[in-house]
Amino acid sequence: MTGSPDPLFYATRQELVQRVGGFFRNARHVVGRTCRVCRQPETETAGLCSRCLTHKSEFGARLADVALILTYVRGWSTTKRVDQSAHTMRAYKATPPAQKCAQDLAYMVAAASTIHEHCIPAVLGSRWESITFVPSAKTPGASHPVAELARTVRGVPRSGRFLLSLADNFHELPDRAVRADRFTVEDRYRDRVEGKHVLLVEDTWVTGSKAQSAAITLHDAGAAKVTILCVARWCRDDWTGHKEFLDSLDTPYDAYVCPVAAPNCPYDPGQ
Ligand SMILES: [Zn+2]
Ligand SMILES: [Zn+2]
Repeated sequence: MTGSPDPLFYATRQELVQRVGGFFRNARHVVGRTCRVCRQPETETAGLCSRCLTHKSEFGARLADVALILTYVRGWSTTKRVDQSAHTMRAYKATPPAQKCAQDLAYMVAAASTIHEHCIPAVLGSRWESITFVPSAKTPGASHPVAELARTVRGVPRSGRFLLSLADNFHELPDRAVRADRFTVEDRYRDRVEGKHVLLVEDTWVTGSKAQSAAITLHDAGAAKVTILCVARWCRDDWTGHKEFLDSLDTPYDAYVCPVAAPNCPYDPGQ
């Protein structure tokens, strides 16, 4: 490890380990072990799990150019107890939201995008120019807690913020399918999309169908590049390979682990 971290980063790192390290684990792409898109412990062909492979064969380059996923969540445990990671993801958007959980997730997003602010454009090829989030069916506007997570991302100009809308037929579409007609970009936001590198924020990746549908909408509206930043990859003990994989991860969530795996990241303890 090279470079001299800002003391603030050090405080954030330790604080995050104390707050969420007991139950969150960094989501990584491990060649031959985890999907290079969604990070789940399954690879079928070309480093992709079967679901991401299906998305790729159906939509190709209209999907997100890259997905950055910060942490794994144990969504269902064989012990039948609710894992703290799953509790955090649910409670942050409960009514009313659990403030501690919302702050933990905001911290993770802010820390990852601040600490790695130079790695991210270096690896992705350009800086994020605009930002939106995947709208929720029940609360599609900017009052949903995921909007607050998007606001904590560093390095995107405020003038680049915009909302995606639900398509008129949204509620009639199958939940778990990637669709090009699930979301829309209103005309007034077109200039924030056309030719831009758009960051699309999501809280949870289960199948990726919502986030990838939104990415397609952005590409179809003229985005030059779409990056998904998703806080959590949902896993379950009863999904093939998940329990064994999660059990094997014993290092607490560390904000220094580079979300883009930059080869010369000055902070990543694995570099
Ligand atoms: Zn996948
Ligand atoms: Zn980095």
